[in-house]
Order: sequence, then C-alpha cells, then structure tokens
Amino acid sequence: MKLTVLAGGVGGARFLVGAREVLRPGFDPRNDTSVPEIGDHKITAIVNVGDDAWMHDLRLCPDLDSCMYTLGGGIDAERGWGRANETWNLKAELAAYGAKPDWFGLGDRDAATHLIRSQMLRAGYRLSAITEALCKRWNPGVHLMPVSDDRCETYAVITDPEDASQRAIHFQEWWVRHRAQVETHSFVYIGAEDASPAPGVLDAISEADVILIAPSNPVVSIAPILAIPGVRGALRTASAPVIGVSPIIGGAPLRGMADTCLRVIGSQPTAQAVAEYYGARRETGILDGWLVHPGDSAEVPGVTSRTTPILMSSTAATAAIVSEALEVAGVRP
Ligand code: GDP
Ligand code: CA
Repeated sequence: MKLTVLAGGVGGARFLVGAREVLRPGFDPRNDTSVPEIGDHKITAIVNVGDDAWMHDLRLCPDLDSCMYTLGGGIDAERGWGRANETWNLKAELAAYGAKPDWFGLGDRDAATHLIRSQMLRAGYRLSAITEALCKRWNPGVHLMPVSDDRCETYAVITDPEDASQRAIHFQEWWVRHRAQVETHSFVYIGAEDASPAPGVLDAISEADVILIAPSNPVVSIAPILAIPGVRGALRTASAPVIGVSPIIGGAPLRGMADTCLRVIGSQPTAQAVAEYYGARRETGILDGWLVHPGDSAEVPGVTSRTTPILMSSTAATAAIVSEALEVAGVRP
C-alpha cells in the first residue's frame, strides 16, 4: 500500500509514528534497516517548509526535523520538538556576544543538523536530497519530503506593538518571540507562488492508495503545503481518497496556537470549521473523509465524517486513529 501523509511538525510527526505502526508494526529505527521502498508498504510524508528560516547563518527546518527526530527516536519527548538530552551552550555563547535574534533556542545537538544542512545547501544540494541524506542517520521508516525545495516562508502581518506600524514578520518571530500575542491580520506564504513541488511530491499524491491529512495546524502547517502550485490540484484529482484528522478537540487545539491562527483567517477553532476550511473534494476542496473526537461533530456535504477518539496519547492510540482513517477510506493494509 502506498500511503501519503500531509504533515506539519509536532502533530504531523506523532501522526506519522501511528501510520508507521499500522503499516510497519514494531519498526525500530535503530535496528530495522529495510528500506521502506522495498517493503510491501510505503509511507511518504509531504512536510511543511513554511516555518523554515535562516538563523545565525544556519538553515532551520523545524517541521522536517520534528518528523525526522520523532520517527528516528531522537526527539525530546517532553518538549515535543528538538533533540533529547539537549544542551544550550551555543545559545548562551551567542547571547554573551549580544547576537540577534536572541529569542530563538538553538540547541547544541540540534545545531549539528542545521550545520550539515546549511553546508549542503551552500554546496548546491536541494533540500529534498539533503533531507534524504540526514535521514540515513535517523532511519525514520517513512520517506520524508519537503513539499518544495524552493524557499517559501510563512509571514504574519501584524501591527507592531512598539510603533503601531503594520508589517510582516517571519512566522518564527511571531510564534516564538511574540507567542502569537500580537495583533495579527493575516498570514502570507512568501515565495510559495513561484515555488515548485519537490521531486516526487506530485507523484506521491497521484500514485497513492490513500492520502491522509495529519491533525496539523491547518493555517500554518497544512495551508502552506497547499499553497505550493500543483499540490492542491494533485489532491483534487488524485484517485486515492483523502481523509483528514481534526487538530481541534472540543473547541481547542491540543497544543500550539491553532485557535489563534484560525481566528486570524476569520475561521473558528472547531472540528466543523476546519472541515469547512479544507472543503469537500466533491465541491472545490480536498477532503473525502474527516475524523472528529467524541463530543465534536462536523457536517460538510460530500465529506464522510467519523467520530472516534483522536487523542494521540500513545503509539497504539495513534495507530488506531490511522486504522480508522484507512477504514473510512475503504482501504486495508
Ligand atoms: P507544529 O508544526 O509543531 O506546530 O505541529 P503541527 O502543525 O503538525 O501540529 C500542531 C497541531 O497538532 C495543533 O493544532 C494541535 O491541536 C494538534 N494536535 C496535537 N496533539 C494532538 C492530538 O493528540 N490529537 C489531535 N487530533 N490533534 C493534536
Ligand atoms: Ca510547524
């Protein structure tokens, strides 16, 4: 079976662990060296690059790294992002020099990933090829693909609290520095219009047996993926069913600031509103099916809604969510 998943960072990464558990039960990144392509099942993750940024001359790809570290067993499970057993000497040394930006936590272990990636980018390699190279170490068991090799970054248009001017700031500055606590008017996916899907992205959609949309932030994780020309069209014409999982349970995101993001675009933090935002493929949207948590509901004509626990509290619980999505899709591993 070919399973393709659209994913952001932490939510996407956890969901992918569940998908891997369903299709490759018991997979251990440290011992299992079988290449996913050779097995019967293949999981491809198309990952958001809108959060990517240059910081201190290093290229950061937070969502790709969250997926890679989580699937590869290197994640700090408590924080949900970054490396386990992290130390922060680099950050402290940069701060001692007064280097800006000073609001970003750059871990020592994590920095090695960014150093290699930045060197390879400067040498002319594409992000997709670099990601593949980095994954040789982590053995995620899932083919991780940046949605695009081109630079396209999410910016938030805000009213600057200091001088009341309107300006666009990088998503990282909005999220990490301001904690989304600043008057925000819109999000723009700068560079997306002129970007191309990375090699293999459109094929992963058109050749899939089933396509899942992880319970990632709809506005700043999934929408920037859909903003890359060709991706939305490929989803709309794919022969595979497209099933999404709500990132909103009981009117709130599990973590993160999806509620704030949804309000910025004039939507609401409900399972119903997110389903409407994605829309039915039968109409002009991208969904055939939608999983919501008990107590929530979503009625969108053309979208099969299924109520099932969608808390990713353990690998087994997450695998059960993926199995339910496959059932709604009418496919069986
Ligand atoms: P980020 O890029 O690191 O912010 O991560 P994502 O965009 O991939 O995922 C963030 C989203 O995951 C948030 O909107 C959360 O509400 C959602 N999320 C986190 N944990 C869970 C969970 O256990 N179940 C569901 N359904 N959604 C979750
Ligand atoms: Ca992210």
